[in-house]
Amino acid sequence: MMRLALLITCLILTTASLGGAKQCSRLITAQMRANAQANIARFGWAAAQRDAAVSAARPWAALSDDELWSLVPSQDVPRDIHTNKEAGCPNCGDGITPYGNYPWKTDFWKNPWKVTCPNCAETYPKNDFYAFYQSALDGHGFFRRELGDQALLFNAEHPDPNDPLHKVYVDDGYGMVDTQGRRHRPVAYYCQWAHWQNLLRAVPALANAYALTSEPLYAHKCAVLLDRIADVYPEMDFMPLHQLGFEHSHGGPGRGRIEGCIWETGTASRLSSAYDTIFDALAADAELIGFSAQKAQRYDLGDKSSAEALCRHIEDHLLIEFLISVKDGRISGNTGMTHTALATAAIALDREGVTDEWLDWLFDPGFPGEFTNSKDPLPWVLTEGLDRDGMGGECGGYGLIWTRSMVSLAELLASYPLYTRRNMVAEFPKLKQAYLIEARLNVLDATMPNIGDSGATGTYGRVGNPHTFARGYKLYGDPRLAGLAWRYANGNAEALRMSGDIYEAEPMALAEKIASVAEVGDTALQSDFLGRYGQAYLQTERPDNGRAIWVHHGYGKGHSHRDCLNLGLHAKNIDMLPDLGYPEYTGNWPKRGAWTSNTISHNTLLVGDSRSEYSPGGKLGLFCVQPPLRVLEASSKTAYADLERYHRTVALVDVSEEDSYVFDVFRAAGGANHRLSWHGPGSEAVIDGVQTVRQPTGTFAGPDVDFACLEGERADFYRTSGFTYLYDVERSTDVVSGAYTVDWRGEDLRGRIKPGHEPHLRLHSASGCDELALASGQPPQNKAGNPKSLRYLIQSRLGSELRSQFVNVLEPYDGAPFIRAVRSLAVEHDAEPGTVCAVAVELADGRTDVLVSCLEPTAVRVEGGIELDGKLCMVRLLGTQVQSMRLVQGTRLSFGQIELLADRAAYTGQVKAVDVSDPLDNRVSLDPPLPADAPLVGQTIHFGTELPLDTSYRIAALTPEGVSTGDITVVAGYNDAGDFASGLKYVVNPGDAYRVPCIVGLDR
Ligand SMILES: [Zn+2]
Ligand SMILES: [Zn+2]
Repeated sequence: MMRLALLITCLILTTASLGGAKQCSRLITAQMRANAQANIARFGWAAAQRDAAVSAARPWAALSDDELWSLVPSQDVPRDIHTNKEAGCPNCGDGITPYGNYPWKTDFWKNPWKVTCPNCAETYPKNDFYAFYQSALDGHGFFRRELGDQALLFNAEHPDPNDPLHKVYVDDGYGMVDTQGRRHRPVAYYCQWAHWQNLLRAVPALANAYALTSEPLYAHKCAVLLDRIADVYPEMDFMPLHQLGFEHSHGGPGRGRIEGCIWETGTASRLSSAYDTIFDALAADAELIGFSAQKAQRYDLGDKSSAEALCRHIEDHLLIEFLISVKDGRISGNTGMTHTALATAAIALDREGVTDEWLDWLFDPGFPGEFTNSKDPLPWVLTEGLDRDGMGGECGGYGLIWTRSMVSLAELLASYPLYTRRNMVAEFPKLKQAYLIEARLNVLDATMPNIGDSGATGTYGRVGNPHTFARGYKLYGDPRLAGLAWRYANGNAEALRMSGDIYEAEPMALAEKIASVAEVGDTALQSDFLGRYGQAYLQTERPDNGRAIWVHHGYGKGHSHRDCLNLGLHAKNIDMLPDLGYPEYTGNWPKRGAWTSNTISHNTLLVGDSRSEYSPGGKLGLFCVQPPLRVLEASSKTAYADLERYHRTVALVDVSEEDSYVFDVFRAAGGANHRLSWHGPGSEAVIDGVQTVRQPTGTFAGPDVDFACLEGERADFYRTSGFTYLYDVERSTDVVSGAYTVDWRGEDLRGRIKPGHEPHLRLHSASGCDELALASGQPPQNKAGNPKSLRYLIQSRLGSELRSQFVNVLEPYDGAPFIRAVRSLAVEHDAEPGTVCAVAVELADGRTDVLVSCLEPTAVRVEGGIELDGKLCMVRLLGTQVQSMRLVQGTRLSFGQIELLADRAAYTGQVKAVDVSDPLDNRVSLDPPLPADAPLVGQTIHFGTELPLDTSYRIAALTPEGVSTGDITVVAGYNDAGDFASGLKYVVNPGDAYRVPCIVGLDR
């Protein structure tokens, strides 16, 4: 019965409309609404979903049409995401800082047009802005500041005109002054966060309630809002506000409409999709047309005398405006956001001859428009923009915007059957990696490392949603995706149900299929590396009490920190080397560039007292796993221009099921002042073995340089070194030659340290330096749970044309240390002096590990009798008895009578050809090929290429001609990104050298 009624609705519109006009709801169709009704009758969860939707819509549905209509503010009421972030609260200043990026409290229903400080509870502005607003409405009901009654602009707490505070804290929408003359923008902040954000929640809430009830009232209320928003939208433009100093999300250029151009993508998607959802109900709503027509007449708002005219108004003044704004840059977000906004608006518009053209534009080399040189049409995104592993071209959550958008977009386009010209899934096989990537970003199956503007100091958070994996499985049938979906749903089919499933005829079919095919099997964690994203990590195979280290060497990513070869360590359930994470604010916030994202605030090497390059890329030279030893090497030729060497070797070595230590060698050659920076998980660090003295004043930049100073004669140095952000400095009194330790007791404000545990990080240094310093550094202070400070350790070698080899061992322990001492061992060799090192790690249980690392494979005699011919080794001794040996890229390792030999250190040769004809089986032919019987599947092949980013691959299979990298592509992108017919270019090319290092072991 209901379906028949809807069909009739469609027909009425069709016959009444001009050719090509929208026919019916597309994203949630009549059939889907009928499925929802059936599911609500069948399933408790579906009824609960309906109830939640109704309850979210209820406050809006309870308002009269007039009330809803008058809620929509026009262009001249400014929007701002901050009030004044430099000054903070007019009353308590930076007392408001710990409350987050957008700290002010608002109450749309009870306290309109006021913002309240969460710290001191003071409320602003002090005038009745709403009274002024009403006095300033023009003939269309639009706010015009110049029309407002000036007599209403006074401080209501100081009504006497002679009171000096009479005009203070008074905001006409364009800001108010405080007693010190500083400007704050509380009304604009309110308009953004309380007013518009509520309206932008109300519209989809009402549409959603309609979709789940088919109750016309919700569609009616939603239409009243959309109609009125379409009245004001053509004037909406953020640029004039930007020029007046209002702030929003636009990344700098000031473009936008209601919001800055980045967030406006979400605004466009939400409003478009709501319009499409309620469309089927509009034609029959005579009361709506009556209301709208009467308002149009009274306020001179054009023709709204019929359902067709009203729809045309919303389509032309909202949807078409969105589409045009994609081209002119007023709607322009991170890659994927803009595409989604365009696709949603075009499909909601559903206009024959128009929608197709706009969807085609997504695939045009000129997308998004002439306003920018950064073109990101879908073919580029899915061939080059997403890296070979499927990750977007930005750090952390920003990169995931790309992948998640592509996943949704593929489904969105597929849901619109009238568009058949392109098919994302069939044309671009790399899309599948976007479904798989999130699981690979996590370490210990527990947290995605904070890289770049991502997370907060010391946060632990796993990415990966069972729904994404399930959607991928539905599309590709890849059993890995079923396995991930099942694992991330904790084996609970209910957890696989998605909010859209309520519209399916058989809503549990996918979950049941996954439950039946998912293999429980081996869930051992793998060490892994991501090429362009540059996250290489070594981890224990079990996540419980797991330990993991990672090194970052990403290339060309947005929202990066200057952190090339930064080291991370997760152990004892905390982040032992916490990245500072998301800055207080992005944009030109001085502390962001000078400190939070600067090199010195990371666990890496600073050269020449100046930051390293922005996202310069690096390469893996070694990636070998054979517990108890796991080792990787990463280096960068581009981190610092003109540096001969910037190279890190790190190993994760297990001593038991519970404990591992980290062996770290940082080698650099060239440049002046090499400073290796460390910070553990606490605000205090105890140093043992080196005498230090407190520097009574100033910062690490000098006793006469104040905290956060970025100005003066040495302004550039202050900015690029970040030294003025290191305070409470103590320095060694002499050159440091002997061994010493530094111990941080783990602190954590997020409840990660359980009662009875006391995690520590202890650093054992096995190399000297010219100066050792301890200083405090400040994580962003407006993120909940961030510590007030962290204690930094800076190992400095001073001078010019330096050649350095920093050797350290990190011991994350709980309560009692498991290492007794770390000693440096003497080495004899013919390699370049200072490029070979050996340490003895004496364990508390009486065993001793000897680790030897060489920059280049060489023959080494180590103090105590070990001999190595190779790159790296580990020997575990109990007394003089060998327990284990590991030999990495070497041919011989011996101690006394025990000798470990390998046929070869590595397989090497040249690339002959690449074959990408089967996207599931990318092939690289090698000369010579690898022996078919060698156990090399799962091992790492490193290609010597000219590219600055990592070009190592995991070997998925051996082929007669070489290797397969499986479904990880060796395509780098288009020869010419402006011409998709120009052919593909490759990561690996004929003539490139290849190397597969070997690791062999012996356990007794
Ligand atoms: Zn305050
Ligand atoms: Zn960082």
